[in-house]
Amino acid sequence: MSSTDLGTIKFLEYQQEKGYFRLVIAVNLAYKTKYLSMNVWKEELLRNSSGQRFQPEDTVRFAYDQDKYIKLVSLTDALVEFCPTCYCGRERIETLRVDCQGCSGLQPQLQRERFNEDMILNSCTPKTYRYSTGYHLELQLSASGDTTSYVAVIFPNNPQMYSRADNFKVGATYNVTAWKNNKLLDIIEIDQI
Ligand SMILES: [Zn+2]
Repeated sequence: MSSTDLGTIKFLEYQQEKGYFRLVIAVNLAYKTKYLSMNVWKEELLRNSSGQRFQPEDTVRFAYDQDKYIKLVSLTDALVEFCPTCYCGRERIETLRVDCQGCSGLQPQLQRERFNEDMILNSCTPKTYRYSTGYHLELQLSASGDTTSYVAVIFPNNPQMYSRADNFKVGATYNVTAWKNNKLLDIIEIDQI
């Protein structure tokens, strides 16, 4: 049986040497984002209702089978809105509902703080972790005298951000949106300012 989710396309590129498209869709769950990566052989699955190829940042509804790999079954345009508290995605038609299915009733220890600050990048180091390589980032708030060092790791499951990490500039200031858990940041967006 296929699963269905709402998400935002984060990466869609034809892999010339492999003969398929690599598609990554970010799915916002309560207080976190999961990235689903799949290889798509049938180009016709990647066209929207106007017959155009989907683009990064398009919001979509998609069905997939998950076995050893994730296999795309269908992909369609969807109007997705995000809960202002936990940022989980839901179809716009449902937003008249008062309670969010993602965060209402969730235990307080599972809630996280949405964080948006200008930060100085103090280091950006490629490292080998248990399951994958990743870029280890150390950041500190740029405005205040607070010298607390915050840590984030960017993994290749977010290929768009991962490919940019090599060019991050140590010493530069970035606007960072993240889920914050103590000094650990789970970065959602990071842009040099
Ligand atoms: Zn919510």
